[in-house]
Amino acid sequence: MLEKNTKPYDVIVIGGGASGMMSAIVASNLGAKVLLIEKNKRLGEKLRITGGGRCNILNAELGLRTLLKNYGDAEQFLYSAFSKFGVSETIDFFEELNVPITVQARNRAFPLSEKAVDVVHAMINRLDKNNVDIVKHSPVTKINLTGNKVVSISCGFDIYSASQYILATGGTSRPETGASGDGFDWLRDLGHTVKTPSPNITPLGASDKWIKTVSGVVLKSASISFFVESKRQMQLKGDILFTHFGISGPLILNNAHKVSDLLQLGVVVAQIDCYPNLSEKELDIKIAEIFNQNGSKQLKNNLGLFVPAGLSPAIKQILNSQVDFDMKTSEVSKYTRGLIVSNLKHLSLTIEKLMGFERAVVADGGVDLKEIDTRTMRSLIVDNLFVTGDLLDINRPSGGYSLQLCWTSGYVAGACAVDKK
Ligand SMILES: Cc1cc2nc3c(=O)[nH]c(=O)nc-3n(C[C@H](O)[C@H](O)[C@H](O)COP(=O)(O)OP(=O)(O)OC[C@H]3O[C@@H](n4cnc5c(N)ncnc54)[C@H](O)[C@@H]3O)c2cc1C
Repeated sequence: MLEKNTKPYDVIVIGGGASGMMSAIVASNLGAKVLLIEKNKRLGEKLRITGGGRCNILNAELGLRTLLKNYGDAEQFLYSAFSKFGVSETIDFFEELNVPITVQARNRAFPLSEKAVDVVHAMINRLDKNNVDIVKHSPVTKINLTGNKVVSISCGFDIYSASQYILATGGTSRPETGASGDGFDWLRDLGHTVKTPSPNITPLGASDKWIKTVSGVVLKSASISFFVESKRQMQLKGDILFTHFGISGPLILNNAHKVSDLLQLGVVVAQIDCYPNLSEKELDIKIAEIFNQNGSKQLKNNLGLFVPAGLSPAIKQILNSQVDFDMKTSEVSKYTRGLIVSNLKHLSLTIEKLMGFERAVVADGGVDLKEIDTRTMRSLIVDNLFVTGDLLDINRPSGGYSLQLCWTSGYVAGACAVDKK
């Protein structure tokens, strides 16, 4: 027997992540009776791990047009929503929740405490204060439709109904946070066009063994070129973070989708230039000087003088079979020095893959924006359904743009759901 929950709700929000909590707060602020349903035991699992636990809560670019350029093809789609609730409104919103914001390099904004968990707790406190009913550890299993309207939703044997519904179940990145893509399946079933997600902002996996020796090292101001069949396809400049499985950091994350295209063409080899401002000859002269001044020491003890911080284990491992690192530096031949220079200018690794949903920050894809009302985030196919956050097919880089999209779409959906009631 199915149990119908008879309590009448104005708005039901499905998914207690960033955008869902925002919608529930906004709708309840406006006096609506709101039910928030979350499948995890606690709210905001993904929000808790954002920005490495520091939560890059938004990007404090105040020029609306400049900000929206970061959302690619969705720039025009988002104009109306961001005009209603943009960066400064978001800052005010969180300050009112006692989460002051601090802006750091590249406009990246964080809670002053630099603790993502503080953002989650502040939102939960407001949900409690607003008497939002919260059902946790309870996955929604079905959306029940009559004609072009949602009439109820099922959580196993429980059925809940409201006049408006907000779908905020997020995407598919980091499945352990509850991201299983349920929302995409339902939207498809409801008649929406959904682009299948693939990992988007994600590290790159490499097969080279030396990578493991430098896990955690950040190479500053490097240049990295990507080759397919010896032909250079792309060059990037910036900081590279080595991990035990490959390479990461904002530069790599934000360009992973381009590497994904290259992987379709063939084997992708990346070459890192540790000293992009020096030619091979200039680097060789500098290293020769260092060798002259420190000739009596063993080569292995001089590596730190010319190999970027943290990378010596990699150089040792790569050249292990060709170079005796125990030899006196004064005995190092010109040929051996050349090998070292060559590896510092062309540190090679074979890119195997994008790391996948388990390590992705955002998975792209989602519901086609043509089927969503730009002003309200309401489905143009299902009359009383709103869609928010990672469910929308909007590409953006890392740097606070994803959460801003959640705050804006969550706000607009929450407010317009009440308006429609
Ligand atoms: C490691 C990592 C770091 C990140 N750091 C940042 C950052 O610093 N800044 C930034 O802007 N963005 C960051 N992002 C991206 C950002 O976290 C997401 O864009 C954002 O959380 C998406 O919010 P959402 O509301 O759409 O979905 P989510 O936050 O994923 O919430 C969806 C919720 O719906 C629930 N749910 C799913 N299915 C069901 C169901 N059937 N029934 C009930 N509930 C369900 C899930 O359990 C989940 O709690 C990061 C992402 C990751 C993975």
